[in-house]
Amino acid sequence: MVECWPMERNGQSGTIDRELRAELEKIMDGDGIVSRHTELKVYECDGWTIEKNAPDLLLMPRTTAQVSAIVGALYRRGVAFVPRGAGTGLSGGCLPIHAPVMICTSRMNRIIAVDVANRRVEVQPGVVNLHVTDAVRRQGYFYAPDPSSQGACTIGGNIAENSGGPHTLKYGVTTNHVLRVELVLPDGEVVELGGPAEEKLGYDLVGATVGSEGTVGIVTGAILRLMRAPENHRTMLAVFAGVQDATHAVSGTIAAGMIPGAIEMMDGLMIQAIEAAFHVGLPRDAGAVVIIELDGLEAGLDARAAQIAQLVRDRGAREVRLARDEAERAALWKARKRAFGAAGRLAPNYATQDGVVPRTRLPDILRVISALSERYQLRIGNVFHAGDGNIHPIILYDEREPDQVRRAIEVGHEILKACVEMGGSLTGEHGIGAEKLGEMPLLFSPDDLLVMTELRRVFDPAERSNPGKVIPTPGACVEVAAPRRQVPL
Ligand SMILES: Cc1cc2nc3c(=O)[nH]c(=O)nc-3n(C[C@H](O)[C@H](O)[C@H](O)COP(=O)(O)OP(=O)(O)OC[C@H]3O[C@@H](n4cnc5c(N)ncnc54)[C@H](O)[C@@H]3O)c2cc1C
Repeated sequence: MVECWPMERNGQSGTIDRELRAELEKIMDGDGIVSRHTELKVYECDGWTIEKNAPDLLLMPRTTAQVSAIVGALYRRGVAFVPRGAGTGLSGGCLPIHAPVMICTSRMNRIIAVDVANRRVEVQPGVVNLHVTDAVRRQGYFYAPDPSSQGACTIGGNIAENSGGPHTLKYGVTTNHVLRVELVLPDGEVVELGGPAEEKLGYDLVGATVGSEGTVGIVTGAILRLMRAPENHRTMLAVFAGVQDATHAVSGTIAAGMIPGAIEMMDGLMIQAIEAAFHVGLPRDAGAVVIIELDGLEAGLDARAAQIAQLVRDRGAREVRLARDEAERAALWKARKRAFGAAGRLAPNYATQDGVVPRTRLPDILRVISALSERYQLRIGNVFHAGDGNIHPIILYDEREPDQVRRAIEVGHEILKACVEMGGSLTGEHGIGAEKLGEMPLLFSPDDLLVMTELRRVFDPAERSNPGKVIPTPGACVEVAAPRRQVPL
């Protein structure tokens, strides 16, 4: 049974009066302010489209000084705000809940300094993830966290969500690659957490900020760690009759002591969608495919690739295709990284779930998902970071049918419950946001939630930075996320 936890919550949302509006306009110098209802609708949701709510005012600052002045002005009048990057989040992280003002950092998009000698790069928060690697590729470096949305999502969003990606199996998630964060606290004060040096003293406040989903203030700058690009890759596609064989092959590979750069899986439904959209040559009759990428020194790569190919054949792969050149490798990654987009071929709407199970439980959770799909009469595709046990069931529905929306929410809840029961977690990389508030008590006790709230209040005593996210409201902790405003497309 889920318990609720007693605690007074701070946080009045406040309103934008004429005086505040005038002050904000002065700070923005008349530029980067969106207040027309029709334009604000663009910002009413992120990739979690089940819930929608436009802000009353959107501000798009270009400098830390502007962010600090905006947040300071809001603080003095008790007005709450929600940070936003590119809006590619998948858990409703930048959905305004009791927050009239949205502060979007996507125009703070300068790469300030590249320092390959010290393997680091200083960026503003609106820099698009892929642009960091683009800036250092020719010098033989890359930025490791590579969300499939990396062509659009921003570093500020990545830091807030502690984002991962296909290659984080080997290289770690965002928190492993952030050395320093510049943060505007919810009273407008600018602080620097961490520093350029690799070793740090004291409490890990950068660690507390990464993954805090915008609830501790606005990230206005970061120093990121760069990695030396591997000398070469071997990328292969293992083809299976079904997801059960495929997932056994994944855990078997890692159990054999091999840690590839990435192991990504897609099931038959997603293969159909990807082929219909992008024609990359995936086998349409397969029940599942697994992309396995090895990277490192050229010497020994072929031998390791042959060993893995044998391992997966022994576990049921009917075919293993090795990418023969960079073009074939790129095609495989295009298939994987655009898979979510291809889901649009299957249904008018989809909700991407994000749960984690111990790798060896992948066959079990996929069995559960298949049974739930039957029970709720909703198709569910699967494309996920198999090496990490990080599943992404793609729940297909039509938002014009209220009952389908209800079932999509409920089936997502059931999947997450099963993940927790199997010893897993509620999110691998997409965050809790607004979507999974109701599930937090499945994993955390009232005391755990209290400690999280106290930590948050060190940064944000009045809880005005992204209110209504991550930590459920006391007394509401058994709720399944309820749709807020529903807007059929
Ligand atoms: C097709 C697709 C594929 C995806 N694949 C992956 C994947 O492989 N791995 C993965 O981890 N995620 C993935 N995502 C999810 C999403 O891209 C990430 O969560 C990403 O980090 C969000 O970045 P954003 O700039 O769009 O942030 P937004 O969606 O705008 O915001 C996300 C959160 O960050 C906060 N935030 C944004 N900017 C700031 C800031 N400057 N300071 C403080 N808080 C801020 C917001 O308040 C919100 O809580 C995918 C999404 C899509 C649509």
